[in-house]
Amino acid sequence: MADSRLAMFGGTRTVDADAGASESTAWPIVTDAEREAVLGVLDSGRLTSVEHGEVQLLEQEWAQYVGVRHCAALSSGTAAIELALVATGIEPGAEVLVPAFSFIATASAPVLRGCVPVYVDIDPVTYTIDPVAAAAAITPRTQAILAVHLHGLPCDMDALRALADRHGLVLIEDAAQAHGATYHGRQAGALGDVAAFSLNASKNLPTSGEGGLITTDDPEILQRVLLHRQFGEELTGRGERAYLSTVVAGNAKLSTIQAAFTRCQLARLAERHEQRDRNVRRFLDRLAALDGIVTPHCPPDRTHAWFQLRLRFDNQRSGCPDVSPGALRTILQRALRAEGVPVRPYQSLPLPAQPALRAVRPADQPYRPQDHPTTLAVIEDSLTIQRWHLNPAAGPLLDRCADAFEKVWEQRELLLPAARSMTYRPLWQQLDRTAAQA
Ligand SMILES: *Cc1c(COP(=O)(O)O)cnc(C)c1O
Repeated sequence: MADSRLAMFGGTRTVDADAGASESTAWPIVTDAEREAVLGVLDSGRLTSVEHGEVQLLEQEWAQYVGVRHCAALSSGTAAIELALVATGIEPGAEVLVPAFSFIATASAPVLRGCVPVYVDIDPVTYTIDPVAAAAAITPRTQAILAVHLHGLPCDMDALRALADRHGLVLIEDAAQAHGATYHGRQAGALGDVAAFSLNASKNLPTSGEGGLITTDDPEILQRVLLHRQFGEELTGRGERAYLSTVVAGNAKLSTIQAAFTRCQLARLAERHEQRDRNVRRFLDRLAALDGIVTPHCPPDRTHAWFQLRLRFDNQRSGCPDVSPGALRTILQRALRAEGVPVRPYQSLPLPAQPALRAVRPADQPYRPQDHPTTLAVIEDSLTIQRWHLNPAAGPLLDRCADAFEKVWEQRELLLPAARSMTYRPLWQQLDRTAAQA
């Protein structure tokens, strides 16, 4: 008979201890195709991207996959956001609307290009930028909206498009987490004026290190991206290099080996997505049956790339309204980790509460937690599953994870004394106190 005691209290763990290092959770998946492609580049002797075809082939294949005219490969997703801003003519000093809930690069890329991020709260159901709050944040200085398809779910792009058109704003997609997701049948990356993707090894379309992609239908945006990724020079690979730079620019090219690796991943992207979609839906359906666990919602007009699975824990519906959401989440994380489920927070602060971003704010506009209540609530009461579920062979392990959730949920009463006696303070409050003491 299975040991029903919680692993936290000495029972048997539900998920094998070595599951995270097993073949069925490996990501990226490296097959002979990747090995041959990478060795093929080494053996070709042509390692620079202008001479070799791998980068250009990846650009063509990704443009075709997304359904846009142009793609440019870059050194990272962060570089892709920066060059999207530069290439669409967003000026230093301009305000860029960004969601308060995202990865740091969504806000640091505009700052690095001299822009001012203006933080907008998220929608409580999709966790993506709230178009109504975005409308309220527009000023005469606003020039762009940076729409992050967080966790792999496309934003409400019709509403954002209408807003952008009404105010003459550029609509930029941060699609770093959303390769292959769709909105009204169109791919992420074809939904704005320009889109930035990451090829970081952790993402749904990975390379064997760092990389990024930009997609657009606009040939002028493409031309400016190309200039800005390579020293401001027009490098065609044809004829003698002129060493003629027309703009001051850095170097953000993708390496040939990275491109060759990603082309192999791209060939399997759709097939892997389909199996992942089945695994994830089965897993989430079981969790959704547990009263008090809120699973990700995918509106019927879009598809989810499932880059991350976010689970919220509702203290009211869980029967413990007296326990703070942060304390409940902390104790659940301990119990689930003990069972072998790799739950962890993703983002422990709203972007505007990040020390780095607070430091570049005007002194008369300090961070105010009440400006982004939904972002704060989601950070407090949720955990994520990352990476494990990306591998299409992870289905049986996700079933074990669902077993563990059911086990912990049934016995959550036993966790509540520890949650009640915990001194819990959200990170933003701890930082506030440090700032006040400084
Ligand atoms: C990963 C990520 C980025 C940055 O991409 P890098 O390739 O790591 O530079 C930007 N935005 C979001 C939402 C991301 O998840």
